[in-house]
Amino acid sequence: MHFPWGHNRRFNSYTEYVRRTFGGRMQKVVVDAGFTCPNRDGSKGTGGCTYCDNNAFNPSYCSPAEPLHTQIEKGILFHHVRYRRATKFLVYFQPYSNTYAPLPKLRELYEEALRYPGVGGLVIGTRPDCIDDEKLSYLWELATRWHIQIEYGVESVYDQTLDRINRKHDFSLSREVILRTHELGLRTGAHFIFGLPGESEEMMLASAARISELPLGSVKFHQLQIVKGTAMEADFRNHPADFHRFTLEGYVRFIVRFLERLNPNIVIERFSGEIPPRFMGMAEKGGSPVPEGQQESPPGGWGLIRYDAVLRLIESEMERQDTWQGKFYT
Ligand code: SF4
Repeated sequence: MHFPWGHNRRFNSYTEYVRRTFGGRMQKVVVDAGFTCPNRDGSKGTGGCTYCDNNAFNPSYCSPAEPLHTQIEKGILFHHVRYRRATKFLVYFQPYSNTYAPLPKLRELYEEALRYPGVGGLVIGTRPDCIDDEKLSYLWELATRWHIQIEYGVESVYDQTLDRINRKHDFSLSREVILRTHELGLRTGAHFIFGLPGESEEMMLASAARISELPLGSVKFHQLQIVKGTAMEADFRNHPADFHRFTLEGYVRFIVRFLERLNPNIVIERFSGEIPPRFMGMAEKGGSPVPEGQQESPPGGWGLIRYDAVLRLIESEMERQDTWQGKFYT
């Protein structure tokens, strides 16, 4: 049976989308171009989002201390060892807000990345309040020759959640900016977190309808990972009852129900995230306190399960229930 997205997997998979669009694997190479973020440099706030620790979310091979071309070179080498057949790459400007600089600076960085051999495009992660029509028009020009995708951190459709996690923007801004980006002909992605404080499972499930209304090319979902030393960790310690902490099995069941309600046209890039064990606090370790000086976590919570294994569990559960993305989407 072929689903509307033209293959047999039960969700509109990014890997298949890339294969269809580029005729093979297109590996993302993360770079840290040294941007900051208005929620950190004082223009909107200084503390940042309560869950934020970019070190925990970044791959080990990129560092802003190195020139961009060195980071790309190292990233390509890193992927070459793991995926020998990867010959084409997307440079992923991931940490912080990668459109938060004057346009000439952005031109310099993006065009340097695009000149690197084997690079077929860019993925640019940013906040919805760090973009304007001038930047979008320039990106549209690039998109006539390259694969360009903007990825907005939206995180939640609920303003009370966005307030609590100190995002310093609301959902209507994300919505407006996504609509504008799409209107200007750019491929638009968005990032959401499940398990933020104050949200019940039913609220998260209900967000599928609001996300489905957005003209998104793709989405990434992550379960909330509480990084050691963040404000989120303190919030969890003080108000544990406000957090819906998914067990792995519970998350798999939730994702399946969520997908059934999600617009089948939206490509899914990820369902969950992984942080290195040294960034995990007690909340990620099944509630056991972290012994002094210990760097590696014992199994607990979700343990050290890799993304591929989570994906297999989700796909097996969809198979078992004979269900698929958009089954109940109206
Ligand atoms: S917008 Fe991104 S970089 Fe800035 S504080 Fe929030 S999560 Fe961190």
